[in-house]
Amino acid sequence: MAKFLPFSQPLIGREEIEEVIETLKSGWLTTGPKTREFEEAFKRYIGCKYAIALNSCTGGLHLSLAAFSIGRGDRVITTPFTFISTVNVILHLQALPIFVDIDPKTLNIDPERVEECLKKRKAKAIIPVHYAGQPCDMDRILRIAKRYGLIVIEDAAHAVGAEYKGRKIGSIGDVTCFSFYATKNLVTGEGGMATTNNKRVADRIRVYSLHGMSRDAWMRYTEKGSWYYEVVYPGFKYNMMDIQASLGLHQLRRLQQFQKRREEIADSYNKAFQDMEEIETPYVEEKVKHAWHLYVLKLRKEKLCIDRNRFIEELRKENIGASVHFIPVHLHPWYRKNFGFKRGAFPIAEDAYSRVVSLPIYPKMKDRDIERVIRAVKRIVRKYRKP
Ligand SMILES: *Cc1c(COP(=O)(O)O)cnc(C)c1O
Repeated sequence: MAKFLPFSQPLIGREEIEEVIETLKSGWLTTGPKTREFEEAFKRYIGCKYAIALNSCTGGLHLSLAAFSIGRGDRVITTPFTFISTVNVILHLQALPIFVDIDPKTLNIDPERVEECLKKRKAKAIIPVHYAGQPCDMDRILRIAKRYGLIVIEDAAHAVGAEYKGRKIGSIGDVTCFSFYATKNLVTGEGGMATTNNKRVADRIRVYSLHGMSRDAWMRYTEKGSWYYEVVYPGFKYNMMDIQASLGLHQLRRLQQFQKRREEIADSYNKAFQDMEEIETPYVEEKVKHAWHLYVLKLRKEKLCIDRNRFIEELRKENIGASVHFIPVHLHPWYRKNFGFKRGAFPIAEDAYSRVVSLPIYPKMKDRDIERVIRAVKRIVRKYRKP
């Protein structure tokens, strides 16, 4: 049998490896010139005024909330159909997550429901998540945010390279946070970036990311720096290392090429599966450029005699890795216990959860890998379709 095809794998080239070695030899390992260079390049790529490199997207979301002084008891609206850290960070600040169910087509937060929710209670901020790499309906979200005075902090962990009406994600909301985690579209191992056009917020995020030490604290170890610093906030330790930035610089240079390959894979899957009535291919809005971080199939359960878990097991038997994004946050034990959430609280997210399968999609995949996935999916569907 063909060897195991992982669900995700980074594509690291010679340039990244050589840059990391150069950094290791330079004697400067942590935040320094390469991190600044990466920030500059990222800023230019996004078309925003400020970019702050961090150790994760999670850290970025945490600092963004903190930069807007979100704190005890403040309500923050978000989707239950996300990775847990989107919501954990709200709790780190003793704020209160308010979940709003998703749109059944895009699986992004449903603006209609956000507005319904705000008619009943106030909130300070909203964290829309661009699920799978498809931008949320930002026009509507911004309009609602303006009407109800919400801060918009975008979770763009999936969305580097995505565009909304010709604008890059990262240049639209108050702050946008990206992830460069090992499985994401641009990889630094662990890593993230916060982008904004607001100087005050950018300064705060930068200061908070390194113990709350006054600006450019890292320079204190250079010939230009001074040993003296002041702590203006009880900050965190969320800075990016130059070792990570060394990877990021080259990953960013190749991002367009990576994205093109992701699009090709998505197109191949779409063509192969569009006529199979047992499975639904991803719905893509017209006014967006999808970043294709994930390719999410939805199973039409009523037309199949196996459930999603069995479907993934069957792929596994064909030596193909697949995954599920996401277990709705409110169904995790801690959230159930502390907020009293029950099954049925967010029915659209729960229904999606029972039907989604994320297939492998990454630039390292060969054409024959794509064909293997297509053949396997078709075989499973044919074998288990209801008569
Ligand atoms: C990966 C991910 C994160 C967290 O990113 P890190 O860089 O690992 O902190 C946040 N939100 C979503 C939707 C993610 O998929």
